Amino acid sequence: RAKAQPRASFQFWSSAINTRMHDRLALEMALRQGLREGQFVLYYQPQFDFQDGRLVGMEALMRWQRTPAQLVQPGGFIEVAEESDLIVDLGAWALREVARQQADWLRAGHRAVPVGVNVSARQCLNRDLVQVLRLALGETGIPPALLRLEITETTAMTDADQVIGLLCELRALGVGLSVDDFGTGYSSLAYLKRFPLDELKIDRAFVQDLATDSHDAAIVRATIVLAHGLGLKVVAEGVETEAQSRFLAEHGCDTAQGFLFSRPLPLAAVTRLLQRGELAPPPASR
Ligand code: C2E
Ligand code: MG
Ligand code: MG
Ligand code: MG
Repeated sequence: RAKAQPRASFQFWSSAINTRMHDRLALEMALRQGLREGQFVLYYQPQFDFQDGRLVGMEALMRWQRTPAQLVQPGGFIEVAEESDLIVDLGAWALREVARQQADWLRAGHRAVPVGVNVSARQCLNRDLVQVLRLALGETGIPPALLRLEITETTAMTDADQVIGLLCELRALGVGLSVDDFGTGYSSLAYLKRFPLDELKIDRAFVQDLATDSHDAAIVRATIVLAHGLGLKVVAEGVETEAQSRFLAEHGCDTAQGFLFSRPLPLAAVTRLLQRGELAPPPASR
């Protein structure tokens, strides 16, 4: 009887694993079906200039309209998509969708601002990325700089030599390039110098405690100086408070993205914003 104990717990453990694997596979299948059936949508989070409050860009953020009543946030599906090849198709969809949307906005005479599109590691290792972009640009005829690819620091640094080659090809197409979640991975400054980048996005984790944590404040200040020294614009992610905004503006951060200014917006709302022109109150004075 003494031996029955570990066996029982093993069975419990293994059935728990089975359940998780089953859930994961079921989710992956639902995602595939969702992609086929057009259940994915993009929200757009506005980005504002810290100096004059102008709308200077947006980030496209994926949502899954799983049922009419259930809008799933990326936290509920991106990881599973990234662990399978699904993210390659999902990511290609997002790139085409943003290009198509930009063309629509241009045709309607709205002001055009660059839109950031998140690109995950697996997409960067996939040879099709350049071709997907080339086609999307060719079919829509939009100025390539209206697309800005966001690649996380971890992706960029994991296979840095290969990524440099890719970034140069992307750069040759004329699209913009950002390093996302800067500060959460590890960056080799030697590589950072060699990457053909436009922009660096300071991760929300550092912005969060800016006003109270002197170390975070030091990291943010140093990042802004570093980025400017390399000729890059700096976007602060996750700006939620006046105090954060004031600090960032005072230290020369270029662009604000965060709930203080706007949450990610559905297409209709962001289209209205573009229609209006559009000026927000200068972040620094709010
Ligand atoms: P990210 O690229 O770093 O995007 C910024 C995230 O921060 C978004 O979360 C945005 O809603 C959130 N955020 C912005 N401002 C604030 C703020 O002031 N406070 C707080 N608490 N959050 C803020 P979201 O939309 O849930 O996306 C999460 C992550 O999912 C993204 O992080 C990105 O890594 C991934 N993701 C989203 N869309 C795509 C996509 O189309 N492709 C890929 N590969 N990944 C995506
Ligand atoms: Mg991003
Ligand atoms: Mg980010
Ligand atoms: Mg992030």
